[in-house]
Amino acid sequence: MEQFVIVGGGPAGHRAARSLLAAKPQARLAMVSNERQLPYDRPHLSKRFLLGDDSSPSLLADLGLRTESRIEWISGAAVGEIDREAARLHLDTGQSLAYDKLVIATGSRVRKLSAEVAQAPVHYLRTFEDALALRSVLASHAHVVIIGGGFIGLEVAAAARQRGCRVTVLEAQPQLLARTGCQALSRWAQALHTGNGVELQLQVNVNAIERGAAGKTLVQTSAGPVLADVVVVGIGVQPNAELAGTCGLDVDDGVVVDRNCATQDPNIFAAGEVTRYPVTQLGVHTRSESWTAAGEQGGVAGSAAAGDRSAAYGEMPWLSSDQYTSAIQCLGIPQLASKYAYLGDVHTDQWLAMGWSSDDRLVCAIGANRNRDISAIRRAMKRNEPLAEIYASALKSAQTTTGK
Ligand SMILES: Cc1cc2nc3c(=O)[nH]c(=O)nc-3n(C[C@H](O)[C@H](O)[C@H](O)COP(=O)(O)OP(=O)(O)OC[C@H]3O[C@@H](n4cnc5c(N)ncnc54)[C@H](O)[C@@H]3O)c2cc1C
Repeated sequence: MEQFVIVGGGPAGHRAARSLLAAKPQARLAMVSNERQLPYDRPHLSKRFLLGDDSSPSLLADLGLRTESRIEWISGAAVGEIDREAARLHLDTGQSLAYDKLVIATGSRVRKLSAEVAQAPVHYLRTFEDALALRSVLASHAHVVIIGGGFIGLEVAAAARQRGCRVTVLEAQPQLLARTGCQALSRWAQALHTGNGVELQLQVNVNAIERGAAGKTLVQTSAGPVLADVVVVGIGVQPNAELAGTCGLDVDDGVVVDRNCATQDPNIFAAGEVTRYPVTQLGVHTRSESWTAAGEQGGVAGSAAAGDRSAAYGEMPWLSSDQYTSAIQCLGIPQLASKYAYLGDVHTDQWLAMGWSSDDRLVCAIGANRNRDISAIRRAMKRNEPLAEIYASALKSAQTTTGK
């Protein structure tokens, strides 16, 4: 009987297991995760989890990992090497595992400050343990300094404000959410957070984080020192692609896969945040940092590993973020947009920005509290259907933007 192995227990690995077992209910499957927890909901960690008192993570649908003998669940162990010639994995526990088909779903890890800069303890947020540690220090009136004004930093800022903390966000770029490339969203997020009492410092570089007196932390910045009780760093992630790279698979800021989640090795598939995959509608490859995308792509990887070559994933990146009572959604690749049209007033709490490339292809849609519109656009693009008139006619009013 064929032996399948999935490395990684995030949404990509979890969905890969589900689709694999749906296609091959009798398959022999092992899942290896270097985390100790059963697969859990990571997005929850920077939102409601920080506001509540749950002592365990919110788990994903039960795969029977604790009970079912057909899935060998190996947790708290990292795969350190893939030996493609022998079709074996070597774990850091000394164990080795043979595979016929392998799915790499190793996700990303947080980008860290160098030891030269971080001379005092700081918090990062990726895992359940990270979230537990951060929550335990978010006491009312603490001064929380957040380095990085991206989605994670801003979600933590919102939660910390809701916990009654004083919050300062330090961002190196001239705007928040700079990586989305949509100025309307950056300005709106700035108004949202300052309106909720967050102190923002833009275009500020952090030079050093030092221990201060009385248990405080001193953040030395290009604009002067900032005294903090808690420092949280959210400066992005990097894909856990070394495992694939060192065994000779194609890696280019992520494991390169095709629409079937296949690597250049016919026995190895990859899915989720660790991959660089082709976005069919836009004709480009991208790496997506999205919960939904990771799950959907994982489902395809599981089917493909089980032999179903009709399964394909080429969706536009799509991510959401909840901050205070607002929901932000970003579909597509804003960096490709050269002109935008807006539905709704971007100075209010409900608006939609649609971005077109210079050759009039819709390349992104970004919305504040316009989830239904984004879903409608996403559905239409996925099915290759014409856009509803309300969206299609927006192109006529699209304004060319400079600097996006
Ligand atoms: C705090 C937080 C909030 C987020 N909020 C949102 C949100 O609101 N919306 C959204 O769309 N996205 C959000 N994201 C992003 C989303 O969680 C990720 O895109 C998604 O988890 C990626 O899934 P994945 O399965 O590819 O990788 P991961 O979830 O990173 O899972 C990969 C797993 O593989 C393990 N692993 C890595 N290397 C090895 C190895 N060598 N051996 C064994 N195991 C290994 C990792 O430890 C991890 O458990 C958030 C992320 C974080 C951290």
